[in-house]
Amino acid sequence: MSAIAIKGWCPGALRPMQSGDGLVVRIRPRGGRLEARQAAGIADLAARYGNGLIDLTSRANLQIRGVSEGYPALIDGLAELGLLDADSDTEAQRNILVTPFWTVDDDTHSLTAELEGALAGVSLDLPTKFGFAIDDGSERVLAGASADIRIERDRNGGPLVRPDGAQFGLSVARSEAVQVALALAEWFVASGGARGEKRRMAAHLADGASLPELLRGDAEPAAPSADPLPGLYPTGAMVGVAFGHMTHQVLSQLAGCGQALRVTPWRMVLVEGMHEMPRGVGLITDADDPALRVIACSGAPRCREAHADTRALASALASFVPADARLHVSGCAKGCAHSGSADVTLVASGEGFDLIRRGTTRDAPVVRGLTRSDLIANPSVLMGGH
Ligand code: SF4
Repeated sequence: MSAIAIKGWCPGALRPMQSGDGLVVRIRPRGGRLEARQAAGIADLAARYGNGLIDLTSRANLQIRGVSEGYPALIDGLAELGLLDADSDTEAQRNILVTPFWTVDDDTHSLTAELEGALAGVSLDLPTKFGFAIDDGSERVLAGASADIRIERDRNGGPLVRPDGAQFGLSVARSEAVQVALALAEWFVASGGARGEKRRMAAHLADGASLPELLRGDAEPAAPSADPLPGLYPTGAMVGVAFGHMTHQVLSQLAGCGQALRVTPWRMVLVEGMHEMPRGVGLITDADDPALRVIACSGAPRCREAHADTRALASALASFVPADARLHVSGCAKGCAHSGSADVTLVASGEGFDLIRRGTTRDAPVVRGLTRSDLIANPSVLMGGH
């Protein structure tokens, strides 16, 4: 077993990240799917070698938290479950989001396997946050999720490949989609995108990078859909966990349904083929649950950078957030849990919470220095009341 390489950003299983509660070991399920035995195995490993807590991330990955000297045994266990890549570079590059609504009759599964195989065979030197999305249903369910190169469908159902940030994509034959996606990634690196400040495709295009003629298209992608909610879908039962944070018992319970789990970027999992909602402690099964209106990063004491216990505050405020609004509570300005905009964002600092409206953790606050007690005593301040 190679020595532990501790990095400060985007951990993997082979490259864990040190956090306030120990090592964070991130698992990237192939094709966004875990067999029931793999899910049960992860729950068992989290209980034995971590602190028993598991995160569902906005990249549709799982993180085992609180790992220390049991790390080598944990890695051996993940290898036995078929959840490890050949090396940490291959793992880091296999950053693929997959629509959880695929069926055995469509192209999603085969496209994903082809892209995973192609990425394993090349070294593109992509930034660690750079990723791909396979979102080839009749609506784009991953439109709001983080990805840099997207394989989608156009308004007539034909496949297209689109760099994130571009309004239109390039129409392709099914057999060309993966090669065009890789060509876009190569162009991104060759044209300096990996050296930019943000190191993401949309920022690169916004900075004026011009796509070569061969990779530029005029196909309009299918309409985006709203983020899914807990409930029954033709492909299975979608259930959430508050803040994407669950105990090993909750994952065990889901694995006990006996079906594969499809992991989503919405802090929910789809229990494949299940036609009734699983019930159990720690599961969000009601689409109106206030916990779905709040997003919070790990926060204190789990993250060493955090200035506040974000999840405790978000839980206390959730019922004051209107059903159609979103509150993001971040333990510092990095905004790990949500890089996009939210109706209200609270960012903890050494001087209290900054409040930002319709923006991200990087935008200018309208109020500074709010205390936890201020917010709980007067939650109407969130939405602009007094
Ligand atoms: S955003 Fe939250 S999890 Fe990320 S570094 Fe800051 S405090 Fe830690």
